[in-house]
Amino acid sequence: MKVTDYIKYAEGRTLISFEVLPPLKGGKMEDIFITLDPLMEFKPPFVDVTYHRQDFDYSQRESGYFEKVAIRKRPGTIGICASIMHRYGVDAVPHLICGGFTKDDTENALIDLNFLGINNVLALQGDRRKFENKFTPEPNGNKYANELVTQVSDMNHGKYIDQKIDAGAKSDFCIGVAGYPEKHFESPNFQLDLEYTKAKVDAGADYIVTQMFFDNSKYFEYVKACRAAGITVPIIPGLKPMTKKYQINSIPRLFYLNMPDDLVKEIMSCGDDRKKIKQVGIEWCSAQSKELKEAGVPVLHYYTMGDSDTIIKVIEGM
Ligand code: FAD
Repeated sequence: MKVTDYIKYAEGRTLISFEVLPPLKGGKMEDIFITLDPLMEFKPPFVDVTYHRQDFDYSQRESGYFEKVAIRKRPGTIGICASIMHRYGVDAVPHLICGGFTKDDTENALIDLNFLGINNVLALQGDRRKFENKFTPEPNGNKYANELVTQVSDMNHGKYIDQKIDAGAKSDFCIGVAGYPEKHFESPNFQLDLEYTKAKVDAGADYIVTQMFFDNSKYFEYVKACRAAGITVPIIPGLKPMTKKYQINSIPRLFYLNMPDDLVKEIMSCGDDRKKIKQVGIEWCSAQSKELKEAGVPVLHYYTMGDSDTIIKVIEGM
């Protein structure tokens, strides 16, 4: 079933969903099951699986020269989605990215998903490569998420990249996209970012999932701004509990968002007591979840990072 149908049939009840990362290359499907098994008690209607593109690194040869080597740390998104659906009978939402894909590659990936009965996707630009200072699409690839949404939407109307296909079979993908309550880091300003988010919805996106935030007022303001801009689709808040002290610096650096002063002060007051720090992070995220639920958000979407124990404590604590 589609993510938007789950929201519709919940009739105002707040659902709970999760995001998981594929295991590091060489890992096992059990690694995912270990995370998801205990979370199934919360009856998530869907589980997102992230996508990690191939990147490059430099390794030093005996001669002293550096060799550029291709690495792909977390492959397997589509297979993991199929496996999750098979094991739990819940829907899986693969993240689909522009980076590393030509439009033909995307078309073929969509055909695979369609054949597997996976009819939800989260359409994204994807992270840039480690050594790139700006995102570079493949030649004949999609550059921005709105172009990817257009391609998926075209296939939903039977329109393929392959010119030889006339009136092809129509897919029926429900399309999610990303939204940034504290602005995407590259966007010159919030308003322009919002306009591009609207472009994704106008191209056919059915719902938005937000980047994590630690201050609920950012989410509420974002929803208000989206509605004022004419974006009417559901906006699902993405949540991640802080669990370690260094994250008060690393999360703003990696995700370009602000940590609320109260949270930072509480974490600092714990010194180096790891247990206490984790407890503060859990309680903070529980309080966020409670307030969002009371405000009637459609779904609470948790970034699990493979740590189901923490997520369970957050949900039980709200
Ligand atoms: P876009 O919507 O394409 O926007 C990218 C930037 O370009 C923004 O600054 C925007 O304002 C601007 N822009 C958008 N459209 C246009 C246009 N037409 N013309 C000019 N400028 C434009 N990354 C992964 O690699 N794998 C994942 O699985 C993954 N999952 C994610 C899940 C969520 C919920 C979120 C919030 C992010 C995720 N990311 C993932 C990270 C994401 O790929 C990056 O944040 C990326 O930099 C932007 O992706 P986007 O889809 O929001 O891009």
